[in-house]
Amino acid sequence: MVKERTHINVVIIGHVDSGKSTTTGHLVYKCGGVDPRTIEKFEKAAAQADVALLVVSAAKGEFEAGISRNGQTREHALLAYTLGVKQIIVAVNKMDVTEPPYNQKRFGEVVQSVSTFLKRIGYDPTAVPFVPISGWTGENMLAPSQKMSWFKGSKVKRGQGHANGITLLEVLDSIHPPVRVANKPLRLPLQDVYKIGGVGTVPVGKIETGILKPGMTLMFSPAKLTAEVKSIEMHHEGLQMAGPGHNVGFNIKNVSVKNLRRGDVAGNAQHDPPSDVNSFVAQLIILNHPGKIKTGYSPVLDCHTTHVTCRFAELREKIDRRTGKKLEDFPQTLQSGDAATVKMSPNRPLCVESFFTYPPLGRFAARDLKQTVAVGVIKSVDKDHGSKKHAQKGQVSK
Ligand code: GDP
Repeated sequence: MVKERTHINVVIIGHVDSGKSTTTGHLVYKCGGVDPRTIEKFEKAAAQADVALLVVSAAKGEFEAGISRNGQTREHALLAYTLGVKQIIVAVNKMDVTEPPYNQKRFGEVVQSVSTFLKRIGYDPTAVPFVPISGWTGENMLAPSQKMSWFKGSKVKRGQGHANGITLLEVLDSIHPPVRVANKPLRLPLQDVYKIGGVGTVPVGKIETGILKPGMTLMFSPAKLTAEVKSIEMHHEGLQMAGPGHNVGFNIKNVSVKNLRRGDVAGNAQHDPPSDVNSFVAQLIILNHPGKIKTGYSPVLDCHTTHVTCRFAELREKIDRRTGKKLEDFPQTLQSGDAATVKMSPNRPLCVESFFTYPPLGRFAARDLKQTVAVGVIKSVDKDHGSKKHAQKGQVSK
C-alpha cells in the first residue's frame, strides 16, 4: 500500500501582534511537528498548505483593529482561500487579557464576527473550529484549560474534515490528511531530467496525484511523447509502487534526455493522460502592480515546476474579492487589489489543469518586476487535443 502523507502543512495567518509567533513558537517547541509558515513565505513559494491557522486577538480594541477593513486578517484569509487552503482553524488568542479574563461572552462575540467575515470570503463558518487560547499562558494550547472550563470543544459539522477538540493541538491533530489523492490519475511534474551512465534517462519529481509503477506507459506533456517505466527509485531504493508526496526518480526506455525537461508533466497514458493547453481561464487577485493591467499583459507564471510567460488574453470579469460577485464585464484595466476572471494563453506549450481536478497543477503565482503581481487558481482549461493523436513511442512529434 502507498502511504498517504501523514504530516500537515499549516500556514499561519492574522493581524500583526495577534500572537502568531507566540502561539506557533509554543506549538513547535512543544510538539515539533508543526511546520509554520507565514502567508508571505507561503505566497512566494505558492506552496501547498493543508490548513490555515488564523490567529485573532480577543483583547479589547486589538480584535476590532485586526478585523477592520484595512486589517491584515481579511487580506490573509482571502489569500489563503484563493490559494486553495479550504480548511481553516481560528485561534482566539489573548483570552488572558479579556475583561474579565477568560471571558466566555467575549469569545462568543469574536466567534460571531469572524464567522461573518469568513463566510463572505467563501469559507463555511459552521465547519470552522474556533478555540479560545492564550499563547502567553498556554491555556488550551496543549492541555484543556481549567480557567475556561466553559469551553466544551469546537462545534463543527461532521464530515467536514475536522473532529471536535478542546485544545488547539487536538484540533490541529484532527485535521484530516489532505484529500485522498492516491486514487486520482497520475500527475508527476518533472523537476529535472538526468542522464545516468549505465542506466539511461532518469526524470525526477514529486508525485502530486495517483500511482506510479514499473511497466506503466507514461505520457509526457507538453513534450508529447510516451515511454515505459523500467524502474522507480526513492532515497536510493527500488520501489514497486510510489504515490502522492513521494519524490522519485524513474528510468524510462527509449527516450533521450534531450526530449524532456523540467516542467513537463508525466501521467498514465491509459488513464486521463496529461495534455498541454491552448488557453485557460483563471480567477486571480492582483497583489502588487504599480500601474494598470490591460489585455496583452504577459507576466511569467510559476505553476508546479514550470515557469511560462502567459498573456492576459481577455479580461472577462472583475469580481468583488469579498463576496465573489461580479462587478463588471470585460473591464478595460485591472489594478492592485482587484480580483478578476481572465482568459490566459501561454506563449509556449504548457501543461496545467483546473484546480478542481488536480489542485497542485491548478494554482499559480504571476511574477513581473521581480515580485509576485498576482496569485490565481485555474477554473478551466482548453486542452490541445492534437497531442494524443500525434504521440508516438519514444519520439517527439509536432
Ligand atoms: P505576531 O505579530 O502575530 O507574531 O504577534 P506576537 O506573537 O509577536 O505577539 C505580539 C504581542 O502580543 C507580544 O508582545 C506578545 O507577548 C503578546 N502576546 C501574544 N500572545 C499573547 C497572549 O495570549 N496573551 C497576552 N496577554 N499577550 C500575548
